[in-house]
Amino acid sequence: MEHQHKEATIPHVLIFPLPIQGPINCKLQLAELFCLSGLKVTFLNTIHNQERLLRHTNVQSRFEKYPGFRFLTIPDGLPDEHPRSFEQFGDIISSVQTVAEPFLREMLRSGAKELVTCVVPDALSYYVADIGNEMGVPVIPFDTLSPSCVWVYMCLPKLIESGELPFKDNDLDASVTHIPALEGLLRRRDLPPFCLMDYKTDPDFLAALKQVERIPQSHGLILNTFEDLDRPFLSCIHSYSPKTYAIGPLHLHLKAKLSSKNAPSSNSLWEEDHSSIKWLDAQPMGSVLYVSFGSVVVVSKEEILEFQHGLLNSKVKFLWVMRPNILKGGESDVQFMKELAEGCKGNGYIVSWAPQKMVLAHPAIAGFLTHSGWNSTLESVSEGKPMICWPHYVDQRVNSRLVNELWQIGLDMKGICDRSTIERMIKDLMEIKRDELKKSIEELSKLAKLSVEEGGSSYNNLDCLIDDIKELAR
Ligand code: UDP
Repeated sequence: MEHQHKEATIPHVLIFPLPIQGPINCKLQLAELFCLSGLKVTFLNTIHNQERLLRHTNVQSRFEKYPGFRFLTIPDGLPDEHPRSFEQFGDIISSVQTVAEPFLREMLRSGAKELVTCVVPDALSYYVADIGNEMGVPVIPFDTLSPSCVWVYMCLPKLIESGELPFKDNDLDASVTHIPALEGLLRRRDLPPFCLMDYKTDPDFLAALKQVERIPQSHGLILNTFEDLDRPFLSCIHSYSPKTYAIGPLHLHLKAKLSSKNAPSSNSLWEEDHSSIKWLDAQPMGSVLYVSFGSVVVVSKEEILEFQHGLLNSKVKFLWVMRPNILKGGESDVQFMKELAEGCKGNGYIVSWAPQKMVLAHPAIAGFLTHSGWNSTLESVSEGKPMICWPHYVDQRVNSRLVNELWQIGLDMKGICDRSTIERMIKDLMEIKRDELKKSIEELSKLAKLSVEEGGSSYNNLDCLIDDIKELAR
């Protein structure tokens, strides 16, 4: 009887990531942290992404050691031949929603076989909060965007009410005034792209509004950051969502909890090319620039050529990730990619997907030319590698501004993409401004590591989150 009672009160968390690399990566790390704390976890993935994950990683055997863990899959509702590129992100999200809604209702039903204590979806899957409220199951969204951008989203209604948005002219350098904690920092060009367009019917704008509307209706909010990095934004978000848990950087947190000296575990949807590490081993310390635009950004051939020339002209060695689906419009041009790799030989090494955390930790790497995705930014901060930022969508423009202006750990290239600017920025990062940027980012890197050690802010916040979830199961 005693045993049965104990079994019944072990909390069971249903984790449901967005069907893209960044959120899947973070949520698997969260799943493992929960398992290490003795919680039961069901990880709900789309069949398409689960197959890719199983093909390219050892997640299956890694999670086998946790008896309370299981993967569950649902179709994404798309035909096999669908390219599933970020350019069709809207289609993918709404198709997954159509499949997930009835599935979640069934899982969260009070008489269901296995009771779910709470659900951890992406904040962007706002419909899960509605289902949770309807079924009486607490929902704790995990927003994988940067806290500063979450705060920008929370301030959108205020920007509109105050009449600041829509902007009355095209002055992209004008300061944005109605976002507390970011006044004097953000210019219009640093806002998410929809703010600069006819936003009212823009799906990204509407999704951003819906997502932040649901946050106060949810039980809490999980963010991948640490307090020393994002304190001003976290304190603003707290006023909106009192149970906000900043428990990152998640990959460092997991490493600390596993006391792991080993290479970080991969959660990649593409096969990691470890020849990149061999290539780095042969390079002098602090001599290489790592170049990657993440898992979803698409670029034109012209932009790629500008980068190639900027990189080659800088004479700096580089490791460049060129995903097979990186070209705009779903184009695949084997000849172009082959010629590019040939043209870079000698100075650069191109791979289609890298073990990024290992790359950033490598002593040969001096800096990171990035699209400023939040995971990449945090991973670079964690390893103390200054950045050149070439941001595109979602939170990336906010992130790159803070990297340059607030934290002073990198250089923001914003919308510019010409070879001479790229060359100049690389020289600034690798030589002229190297010492000052390195000093500030190494300071932050130390704070990041401390935050996940016993007594650190992220360590304590994770304990509070787990206590909170245990309380829900009582
Ligand atoms: N990543 C990787 N290998 C690569 C490129 C990216 O493992 O060659 C990982 C990276 O470590 C990060 C994620 O993919 O965890 C990208 O997430 P981010 O938020 O930076 O950008 P997104 O892909 O969501 O735009």
